[in-house]
Amino acid sequence: MYNSVRIVDNLAEITRYQDRHVLEKSLMKTLNELFPGENLRLFAARKRENRLELNLLSFCVNDVIGMSEEADQQGADCNELEQAVARAVGNSDIELMWNAGGEGMTAIYPAYDTRGDIFAVLVHQREVPPGGNDQRLVYGILRVYANYLALIDKSQRDKLTGLFNRETLNDEVTRLLVRGGSIPQNAAADDSRRRPLQVKHWLALVDIDSFKAINDNFGHLYGDEVIILIARLMESGVMRDSDLVFRYGGEEFVLLLDAPDEASIRAGLERLRLTIEAHNFPQIGTVTISAGFVEVAGQQSPADVIGEADNALYYAKKHGRNQVQGYRELVESGRLARNAPVTESDIELF
Ligand code: GH3
Ligand code: MG
Ligand code: MG
Repeated sequence: MYNSVRIVDNLAEITRYQDRHVLEKSLMKTLNELFPGENLRLFAARKRENRLELNLLSFCVNDVIGMSEEADQQGADCNELEQAVARAVGNSDIELMWNAGGEGMTAIYPAYDTRGDIFAVLVHQREVPPGGNDQRLVYGILRVYANYLALIDKSQRDKLTGLFNRETLNDEVTRLLVRGGSIPQNAAADDSRRRPLQVKHWLALVDIDSFKAINDNFGHLYGDEVIILIARLMESGVMRDSDLVFRYGGEEFVLLLDAPDEASIRAGLERLRLTIEAHNFPQIGTVTISAGFVEVAGQQSPADVIGEADNALYYAKKHGRNQVQGYRELVESGRLARNAPVTESDIELF
């Protein structure tokens, strides 16, 4: 039997930090303590157009815990596993699969969020099938994980739009600056075939054009409705799972996007701008946005990154609105002075 004191200790540890990345790591640590030496992988799962999309969140291999960015493989790596996961999700039940060559087995646990939708899958490799107690323990821990994640999620979101809020943005940008966009350590230097395309991270500050006039002419409630609709258009307009949309302030949004180069980020933002321009807003008609973007790389702080994007946005506003401007290009062409890094003395104290 398990030591119940240790289990309670681990549950306390799981719920100690209000950060989903730490939560996923603590979950792995707990499961590793309960099942030492056994390999574990936690995937985010999402149903999209009747297909199940899996993205690796964290893993534990040979008692070493890692997060998705340290892994070679991001999705489920073989067809057989993918099919077994689909069966587990289809049956809403654990799926057991014997490994090829008779070497141990894999147990697949589907995990459901507080609304009953699939949101994660735990893949557990071990010698023998888990008994009833093992299964109940894992399911119980996955439920704690789901409930706590729902709580964190609520605290990270803006009430009007359901987008991520400003505090969460700071954490995410800090994470990107610290990580520095380096190639994952375990991608072997001589193995260029498998090395992923170097991704770059970009931050775009998006502001609704002449929004005050919408409030003045149609009222605050209509203004709110426009904010909600634009939030929806931005969420469905971003392409990748890793792309994040934040409400930065009243009618301002931030996008954190991955793209290999400046041309593709510009094209993506242009597409978004055109989508919004083409949308028919009830009663109001056409609403447009302006955006300033910058690469998240090498700045001293999130405030510096946002400051650069803000200067590009300001330029867009001053030159006709309804347009996308990039910080690097504006500075290099001499149309914008380079930002001085934000220093502590710049931060106003109230
Ligand atoms: P610009 O094109 O230069 O961005 O002009 P603007 O009118 O959009 O910008 P300005 O900053 O002058 O006005 C923004 C307005 O947004 C002022 C504020 O009353 C309104 N606002 C801020 N938050 C909210 C909100 O949550 N709901 C509504 N309805 N209005 C908001
Ligand atoms: Mg504004
Ligand atoms: Mg505005």
